[in-house]
Amino acid sequence: MAKIAFFGLGNMGGPMAANLVRAGHSVAGSDPSAVARTAASLAGVSIAATANDAMQGAEIVITMLPSGRHVLALYNDLLPLAAAGTLFIDSSTIEITDARAAHTAASTAGMRAIDAPVSGGTGGATAGTLTFMCGGADADFAAAHLVLAQMGRNIFHSGAAGAGQAAKICNNLILGISMIAVSEAFVLAEKLGLAADQMFKVAAVSSGQCWSLTTYCPEPGLVPTSPANRDYQGGFAAALMLKDLHLAMAAAKSSGAAGGLGPLATDIYQRFCDEGGAGRDFSAIITALRAASTSP
Ligand code: NAD
Repeated sequence: MAKIAFFGLGNMGGPMAANLVRAGHSVAGSDPSAVARTAASLAGVSIAATANDAMQGAEIVITMLPSGRHVLALYNDLLPLAAAGTLFIDSSTIEITDARAAHTAASTAGMRAIDAPVSGGTGGATAGTLTFMCGGADADFAAAHLVLAQMGRNIFHSGAAGAGQAAKICNNLILGISMIAVSEAFVLAEKLGLAADQMFKVAAVSSGQCWSLTTYCPEPGLVPTSPANRDYQGGFAAALMLKDLHLAMAAAKSSGAAGGLGPLATDIYQRFCDEGGAGRDFSAIITALRAASTSP
């Protein structure tokens, strides 16, 4: 079992660290939030008073932070404290350029590193069923595999440094756009006098079928696990979807990839967040479309 330093014990990092404790690792955690520290401590994470304390004897360092700015600043502090060859795993969702900068900083300091962002939300983090998409050298991915498998179910090596972040934002670009498409279809069906369950029955087994429809349906009452059944509470906040779409748009711009729906979807979630929806599950976008609909 490994000695692991875990930085960022929030909604995702807290339960991920708890799963590593359950798997038998010695986990030293750190987070500026007292609420996050208390929850992690109750799950068996030993809370470090300082970053230096957390790094004592650490063989693996995991970060689960809000943004690339946080990751790069923390790497700057931690790399001088780490023993040569320590494995750095960053599971935050951040810009590909920041992920590559983190890799460069780690390897320049004599460390091993992978970017390993996740999909699966807080439910997947708690259940240990996350999907990890990783970027980095083969040997570093192989070294990380065991602990990733203790926090997730599907572990992919997507390519070189930054490839994990690339896979993550491409997936979430599809998700953000498809959720709007499914929501538009339900709003149109209602306007056409077609019952929601009838539309669902057809599309669920036809060419409109997708994850946003059959696993995470934005219309309440059709898919039991959907946040739609809990007034769009919990799940994946619209603010996080907007963050990921901004990352995708930045990557599209810097790489020269053409797009049409990505910028539109970004505008739609931006407006939804600006108008108070930031904390609601992103599938609540259907409520904004409904509200914007008019009578003939
Ligand atoms: P969160 O805000 O709940 O947690 C982030 C934590 O990082 C906070 O507790 C914060 O106090 C802590 N932190 C900030 N600076 C720190 C530092 N220097 N040292 C230690 N801790 C520090 O966010 P989250 O929902 O857990 O998301 C974390 C990352 O995972 C984000 O990049 C997010 O985009 C990504 N993600 C989230 C979800 C989701 O459903 N919530 C799903 C997939 C990916």
